[in-house]
Amino acid sequence: MGVMRKSAAEIERMRETGRVVARILQEIAAAVRPGVSTGELDEMAEELVRKHGAKPAFKGYSQGGKVPFPGVICASINDEVVHGIPSRKRILREGDVFSVDFGVVLDGWYGDSAITLPVGRVSEKAARLIEVTRRALEIGIQAAIPGNRIYDIGAAIQAHVESHGFSVVRDFVGHGIGRRLHEDPQVPNYGPGGKGIRLKPGMVLAIEPMVNEGTWEVEELEDGWTAVTADRKLSAHFEHTVAITEDGPEILTLPD
Ligand code: MG
Ligand code: MG
Repeated sequence: MGVMRKSAAEIERMRETGRVVARILQEIAAAVRPGVSTGELDEMAEELVRKHGAKPAFKGYSQGGKVPFPGVICASINDEVVHGIPSRKRILREGDVFSVDFGVVLDGWYGDSAITLPVGRVSEKAARLIEVTRRALEIGIQAAIPGNRIYDIGAAIQAHVESHGFSVVRDFVGHGIGRRLHEDPQVPNYGPGGKGIRLKPGMVLAIEPMVNEGTWEVEELEDGWTAVTADRKLSAHFEHTVAITEDGPEILTLPD
């Protein structure tokens, strides 16, 4: 499958999907506090998805013989990097670093976004990890301009992250997105820059740096989904769905 480019009309549809993703993610974020379970947040997300006339993008998702993902959100706490399974038994506690990855499909078009939130008061290091990761996404998005190459995005992200003493995950990457959740091309969060396909207007990419406090290496837990840092140190994750236009990158997963 080659890299698909979307028309202006198609990008408008994806803008609508992106708005739904962003609004729901905002509501989930507002409900995050010590004492709430990731299962409750997942149920809340499912209800909101239904209210918006959309469908969850992750629930039932399967790839490479995996068991279908059971959640509407991916709920990853502390050393969990991505793909944490929401559960009523997982209660958020003061000081946790909580990543929510969330996507929907609306009228056949996908949107995908992620944020990492401090639960109550967190350590100085945790706060710094979250801020560096949030900023890494901004910097990656700024590199998503026509004429650049795909690895220029990752090179910019990696340089920022490593300058702060953290590491970028290699085992998971961003992706093209559109009528499918995962389309070509892959969007790595590392360099070297100057390599890979040339970015062109009409490409829509999910850019999603995953940043670890310690080693970049990850392991998968026995539930078949949850990825954790190999050294069990903290991890953070931010993601936006971004359209490349003549005028530069446009974030589609914004609330308005
Ligand atoms: Mg995502
Ligand atoms: Mg994604």
